[in-house]
Amino acid sequence: MKAAVVSEKNKGKVDIIDVELPELQSGQALVNVEYCGVCHTDLHVIKGDFGEVPGRIPGHEGIGVVKEIADDVTSLKVGDRVSIAWFYEGCGTCEYCITGRETFCRDVKNAGFSVNGAMAEQCIVTADYAVKVPDNLDPAQASSITCAGVTCYKAIKVADVKPGQWIAIYGCGGLGNLAIQYAKNVFNAKVIAVDINNDKLELAKEVGADLTCNPIEIGDSGKWIQEQVGGAHGAVVTAVSKVAFNEAVNSLRAASKVVAVGLPPETMDLEIVKTVLDGIEVVGSLVGTRKDLEEAFQFGAEGKVVPIVQMKPLEEINNILDDMEHGKIQGRIVLDMSL
Ligand code: NAD
Ligand code: ZN
Ligand code: ZN
Repeated sequence: MKAAVVSEKNKGKVDIIDVELPELQSGQALVNVEYCGVCHTDLHVIKGDFGEVPGRIPGHEGIGVVKEIADDVTSLKVGDRVSIAWFYEGCGTCEYCITGRETFCRDVKNAGFSVNGAMAEQCIVTADYAVKVPDNLDPAQASSITCAGVTCYKAIKVADVKPGQWIAIYGCGGLGNLAIQYAKNVFNAKVIAVDINNDKLELAKEVGADLTCNPIEIGDSGKWIQEQVGGAHGAVVTAVSKVAFNEAVNSLRAASKVVAVGLPPETMDLEIVKTVLDGIEVVGSLVGTRKDLEEAFQFGAEGKVVPIVQMKPLEEINNILDDMEHGKIQGRIVLDMSL
């Protein structure tokens, strides 16, 4: 089958090659991939930001239809439409797995990083970890919820912002525009969208942001948010830049949280006196559990959240990664395996 693999020779690129799939093992299902969204995390993986993985098939916003199941599989049947997510499998027995925090399992497998992912015509999944896609959710849009959507949905849960309160969303790209939609339409919060590209801020307004700001034009967005609304009750940072993390801390009211989601390979500054005197919490949030994904899909199926997707063929992947690096993508580019 045709697949994209992290290139050994061309650093930061993928090669499209023919790959042979192994035999199905106990507990597994074979999925015919329909769509796979391109997440900025794929770019980090392909560039080696989390360690080199030559030969790995990237992709963790996969959606496809089950073609075959191993004899012992009971949770899926042939014909089911399922996700192929970053949280590919946990051990199922550790303290994280059994307390609703399974994405932090120390023996976790991640699609497109530690195991092969969905930028391919077919993918093998662990049946009990593949989440079913509701019938009335468009499968291409579902791909975007499989990582971007669920990650933002979970991050806003972690931010613990109440209806009517202000949340600052830093970065309005593939994740950020969905964060705005979940914050507005599911959590009933007021949203301040922050990005350094005005086209992303236009999109942010279209999907419901109440206020937008571009730090390149107005300076420190944290200071601006304090002036405009007296500070945010929470912030979710999806921007791939430490500057945004620092500004997010400055944007907060006392006793509020910055939820770190973006993964720039940098260190953020944290002023100790402000952190202590203002009771600031900084917390990381990693994708979402199977239950979070089921919920995030359902809000998509109900039309509360509408991912903005543009379809391209798998062969375009290196150009798409290049556009992503340069901030040229609006919403999500989704690889359509039928093109
Ligand atoms: P993207 O490239 O689509 O969007 C990033 C956005 O950040 C762009 O709109 C860009 O203009 C904006 N930006 C850059 N610098 C900024 C700054 N200083 N201030 C404000 N905005 C700025 O990327 P994406 O797919 O949305 O992913 C974003 C990040 O989230 C990546 O690092 C990705 O790896 C990470 N991620 C984390 C999780 C998780 O579970 N924590 C899940 C998915 C993605
Ligand atoms: Zn992702
Ligand atoms: Zn575990």
